[in-house]
Amino acid sequence: MASVGKLVLMLVTNKEMLCVKWIHEVYMKEDADFWVYTPSNDCSWSWKNMNKIKLGMEQWYNDDAVFEVHELVWSRLLLPKHRSILWLATQRKLLTKERMVGIGITCDTAECVLCDQEEMEDLNHLFAECDWVRDVWREVMQWLGIQAPHLEPRLVLEFIKKKHWCKMKKEVVVVVHGALIYFTWQARNWKIFKDNIVDTSFVVQQIEVVVKERIDSSSLGLVYSGSTRRRIGMELI
Ligand SMILES: [Zn+2]
Repeated sequence: MASVGKLVLMLVTNKEMLCVKWIHEVYMKEDADFWVYTPSNDCSWSWKNMNKIKLGMEQWYNDDAVFEVHELVWSRLLLPKHRSILWLATQRKLLTKERMVGIGITCDTAECVLCDQEEMEDLNHLFAECDWVRDVWREVMQWLGIQAPHLEPRLVLEFIKKKHWCKMKKEVVVVVHGALIYFTWQARNWKIFKDNIVDTSFVVQQIEVVVKERIDSSSLGLVYSGSTRRRIGMELI
């Protein structure tokens, strides 16, 4: 089923590939819209079957996606460990220093350890206002080729939810956001517990690797292949 899904995506995105070109020439008029094309009765079973599968994919590929915030967090493209941290962050349940102090847990300092701003480590600072995370955010958004406001986790998801983007684009941006939240939390923990300083360029690299891997492991992989993957964001605009 997955490989048929990939072929459906290739049919709508890459008419230059030999096998895809052949299908377009044999089964469809050169410029026919694949999404509205209906195979005739004398077509083969496999071709009819592929056209059935496309009906289930059309909404995912074409429509403005309407997601609630919790649905964005449960995107199939997110790595489970990224999803967990993102979920805790959106629910304001991550054990930041502000929260620790609030529930009476003693800590050496309540300040953020990732920057020199001498600000209390709360969700808004750690994921939105901190100079360290701002550097990562700027680089990643540049790589994606999109502009998104720099806000705390739940508000970023609200922003994604309201955008008139297709599902594919929303899912990819959520994967990027989830990876950013995960690696920021990891950098904060490495500094506190191992006294390791994590460089922002290292985190940006890790985010890019994760996003490419997640896309490769899904049916989007064949669409965004080779050099295109390096510019995934530009392709999604
Ligand atoms: Zn900071």
